[in-house]
Amino acid sequence: MPDMMLTPDFKNTPYWWEAAPRPDLGEKPLPKETDVAVVGSGFTGLSAALTLARGGKGVTVFEAETPGYGASTRNSGFVGCQLWSKLTPLVKKFGEERASVLAREAMSAHDYVVSLIEREQIACHFTYCGRLISAHSPAAYETLERELALMQRLFGFEGHMVPRDQQRTEIVTDLYYGGMIVKKGGSLHPGLYHAGLLDRAMGAGAVVHGKTPVLSIEREASGRFRVTTPRGVVSAGRVILGTNGYTGKGLDWFRRRLIPVHAGVVVSEEIGAERVRSVLPTGRTMIDTRINPYSARPSPDGARLQFASARGLFVRDYPAKAMEMHRAMVETFPTMRDVRIAYCWTGQMGFSFDKLPHVGERDGVLYALGYCGTGIPMATWLGHKLGQRVLGAPDSGSALDGRDFPTRPLYTGNPWFLPLVIKWYGHKDKRGVPARKAA
Ligand SMILES: Cc1cc2nc3c(=O)[nH]c(=O)nc-3n(C[C@H](O)[C@H](O)[C@H](O)COP(=O)(O)OP(=O)(O)OC[C@H]3O[C@@H](n4cnc5c(N)ncnc54)[C@H](O)[C@@H]3O)c2cc1C
Repeated sequence: MPDMMLTPDFKNTPYWWEAAPRPDLGEKPLPKETDVAVVGSGFTGLSAALTLARGGKGVTVFEAETPGYGASTRNSGFVGCQLWSKLTPLVKKFGEERASVLAREAMSAHDYVVSLIEREQIACHFTYCGRLISAHSPAAYETLERELALMQRLFGFEGHMVPRDQQRTEIVTDLYYGGMIVKKGGSLHPGLYHAGLLDRAMGAGAVVHGKTPVLSIEREASGRFRVTTPRGVVSAGRVILGTNGYTGKGLDWFRRRLIPVHAGVVVSEEIGAERVRSVLPTGRTMIDTRINPYSARPSPDGARLQFASARGLFVRDYPAKAMEMHRAMVETFPTMRDVRIAYCWTGQMGFSFDKLPHVGERDGVLYALGYCGTGIPMATWLGHKLGQRVLGAPDSGSALDGRDFPTRPLYTGNPWFLPLVIKWYGHKDKRGVPARKAA
């Protein structure tokens, strides 16, 4: 039976939505005017809204679905301190100095999210567990070793290598060829983190409108913006765009620069903390070095195993997807063969063509997009930076600001090529080719 490894009450919605259900904020009338219109109510939008509302601005957040419907409540909850792109290719492209500045921006994003959780007292199970990056081939291990040495030399990165013969202290599998420990790695419950941000932003005065998609943003001669929704038009002094992997029609310039990549997550039935520790003894988050990576972590209560893979394709049949991921989980942890899947869901990550986040301004619209799977720290950080920019704060700049935001000829935002690319990446992963990403 194909579905026999699913629990009878199997769900295709995020596990996170159990503790943090999608909020129903009711329908409020739209204002005629607002100081700042924020499009999207994920980490980018809410972080910007919080900073702006605390800075005394009137903020209206527009969300096409329910608040937090996008990747912000669908992710794996890994709080990293690195960009998706490895440092070595960045050094090749930008030189050591500029590449270090870009990489350090990811560390600032990490520090910011940790301090925000602490300052705002957001109860979201944040823990400094550290991260294990497992090498899927001997060549990938050597690449990790070189990358670590480079990061240590350029900016004192804290981490160490774990050779294959010692990896069972970190992860109980023979699938990998050792790995690297990143000290500055955390995990959290994304649903509760999002709920905390929503609560603090609304508490500070931001007004959030669910089920209110922005259809178009036009600049008027006065310099103000006409924000059109099916529920009416709002005149905004500034607009901040935080729609990342969900950027759709009407936002065409941005859509042409983003590749929406679907990633899938499964969470097991309750198996108890001891059984989870039998495969992840240190409780760290784990991601491997494949181009289409596998990742795993304990659930915040330690009693379930979470497993994810970024295979990139739209899913129609969730039980089938869950079974595919169960096979990948068992390939990684053979002792989990009898463990059933209780949740399987997907979400859309926003990738940029140069694999770097982008923040800036286009025809007066401020945007932060293209986090390539690093949005817990990066979206929170760049949303805050955009808020600071509107407030005219002196430290509103970002090393990621002002770069060309590339697209490709004829690309409209429909990633028709992804199935082919994923297949090609899968082929390279099987051959053990080291990926360019940092994980
Ligand atoms: C499965 C998965 C696992 C991930 N794991 C991690 C991880 O472990 N660590 C990490 O750091 N990152 C992870 N990420 C990435 C991270 O979740 C995202 O980068 C981050 O949540 C992006 O936040 P955001 O606010 O920019 O966008 P989102 O949270 O995606 O929010 C965008 C919102 O905009 C809304 N929207 C779109 N168009 C409109 C419109 N026209 N009008 C109004 N609203 C609109 C959407 O409905 C959506 O709610 C993962 C992502 C996925 C999908």
